[in-house]
Amino acid sequence: MIKENLLKIKATLPEGVTLVAVSKTKPVSDLQEAYDAGQRVFGENHALEMRDKHEVLPQDIQWHFIGHLQTNKIKYIIPFVTLIHSIDSANLLEAVNKEAKKHERIVDCLLQFHIAQEETKFGLDMDEARQLLDSEAFKQMQNIRICGVMGMATFTDDEAEIRKEFKCLKAIFDTLKQDYFADQPQFKEISMGMSDDYPIAVEEGATMVRVGSKIFGARNYN
Ligand SMILES: *Cc1c(COP(=O)(O)O)cnc(C)c1O
Repeated sequence: MIKENLLKIKATLPEGVTLVAVSKTKPVSDLQEAYDAGQRVFGENHALEMRDKHEVLPQDIQWHFIGHLQTNKIKYIIPFVTLIHSIDSANLLEAVNKEAKKHERIVDCLLQFHIAQEETKFGLDMDEARQLLDSEAFKQMQNIRICGVMGMATFTDDEAEIRKEFKCLKAIFDTLKQDYFADQPQFKEISMGMSDDYPIAVEEGATMVRVGSKIFGARNYN
């Protein structure tokens, strides 16, 4: 079913929208099946789980980290991670930069914004983002590249609310592009949309969608 699910979703995505297959909690055999069907971009939200999967799966997989990243776990993923979607504080970005420097890498990152109504979701607001981007510390960071923004909509059936939140993230992207990244072509990604809402996200300008259960089936947490 994984292959069929993947092909079905891919067929609905416009060209230029990257499908991140969110494989958290799923066994390596599931990821291999997706790989064999042509999928190369995988998303995980636990550092050690991602490291362990990276060690046993093909080396041309692009690993995206999409969860809340604790600073003491950064070291496990920096050697190989392709994109960190979830930069939600200046401290985290500084710690990523420091670790990336040790490995002589420049690590691509997205700024995560809080766009949902729920209190629990991580992310910056516009003031915090401006503070970060204006800071002297940020200007000194040579080992990270900011490539865009990420956000998660409220968990709700209210399509109008979800659409409003995605529009909000797109507006944040446009503002930051204009004010900080106008001359930086790498600042182009808007990561939004999950299994239940990615079609809306695509309509509202997503360049990356993060889809898990629609590909791999429901997750069991125990
Ligand atoms: C789990 C997760 C997803 C995928 O969720 P599904 O509803 O299974 O598609 C996307 N983004 C983030 C940040 C996640 O943690």
